[in-house]
Amino acid sequence: MSYKPIAVVGAGFSGAVVAQQLADAGHNVHVFESRSHIGGNCHTERDSDTGIMAHVYGPHIFHTNNEEVWRYVNRYCSMEAYVNRVKACVKGNIYSLPINLHTLNQFFSRTFNPKEAQEFLLGIRDRAITNPQNFEEQALSMVGSELYEAFFKGYTQKQWGRDPRTLPASILKRLPLRFNYDDNYFSHRYQGIPREGYTVLVGRILDHKNITTFLGQMYEKSLAQDYQHVFYSGPLDKYFDSSLGALAYRTLRFEKHTEVGDFQGCAVMNYCDSNFPFTRISEHKYFAPWEQHEKTIYFKEFSSEAGGEDIPFYPIGLAQENELLDRYQRLASAEEHITFLGRLGTYRYLDMDVTIAEALACAKSFLLKNRI
Ligand code: UDP
Repeated sequence: MSYKPIAVVGAGFSGAVVAQQLADAGHNVHVFESRSHIGGNCHTERDSDTGIMAHVYGPHIFHTNNEEVWRYVNRYCSMEAYVNRVKACVKGNIYSLPINLHTLNQFFSRTFNPKEAQEFLLGIRDRAITNPQNFEEQALSMVGSELYEAFFKGYTQKQWGRDPRTLPASILKRLPLRFNYDDNYFSHRYQGIPREGYTVLVGRILDHKNITTFLGQMYEKSLAQDYQHVFYSGPLDKYFDSSLGALAYRTLRFEKHTEVGDFQGCAVMNYCDSNFPFTRISEHKYFAPWEQHEKTIYFKEFSSEAGGEDIPFYPIGLAQENELLDRYQRLASAEEHITFLGRLGTYRYLDMDVTIAEALACAKSFLLKNRI
């Protein structure tokens, strides 16, 4: 049995959870984080001017059906009840999202009850599409062309920089369609936001006598000999120096504004029309309704293709990426002492709860084979 420490690359949820599980089992763990802070893209920090807790890389609302994951995060922080209620601005009107009975009645100026709305939708959706092959077909078969054009077409083109006919149907399957007035964006049993922000939560997960975290420090492959095993949650292609080509990501840019009082009256407003260059505006004091602030900060969110130096946000799972991913995965499985995990390490559009569940499973499987 080797007693070398274990290296964990990345201090987001994946890295922190794996590190904590291994540290608890008695391993010494070194966490390498190239940025100057922990928490990955969930990082939160108080705005120095207003005192508002800012979601630095965009809104993060925790939601899950996974009891184990919910218990896990609650061990480290107080999760405040929070329900994500998103609004949409479409052609000068404000609607409720996800598309629900209120949206349908507002949009078509009707007073449908649930059954009438369902029958109406049956009449307008494209029933010829029985097996949607792309985002547009998925939308047309779900809600028909008018709703598709209003809520999804422009927003999706801005968000992904691609014609929705070239995007996978799975992107839209994330969103519910409801025939009642439930405007909760998520359908999961548990939903909340950590009272003190995500960075404090991740900091507590990492706060263990067997864990040393190195901030602003890249992991170099030449260090591998010092470690028993490496858990790598950075970008999969970057680990292999992009030798087969770069996996495509969308990156986000946030334009910050500060005002006194209130800007939009809700946390998130989507701008679905294509004449607005941004996709949405988020007003961050609404993510902490338990706090009071006189000023407000809000961020316009712009999406673009990630270049080499940009922070990757969304993996783009198109056919050509999947082929490239396949080739990188073959390289990855040939590596003996390294496990790739998380959104960047496995190149998947993962929610926080799935990231944590997978990190727990990853650590468990390693520990079964490597008992101290
Ligand atoms: N979407 C859209 N209009 C909206 C909201 C979402 O077209 O008002 C599409 C868009 O393509 C987006 C996908 O639905 O990428 C999934 O939405 P979700 O809110 O889950 O995106 P995220 O919050 O992860 O960016």
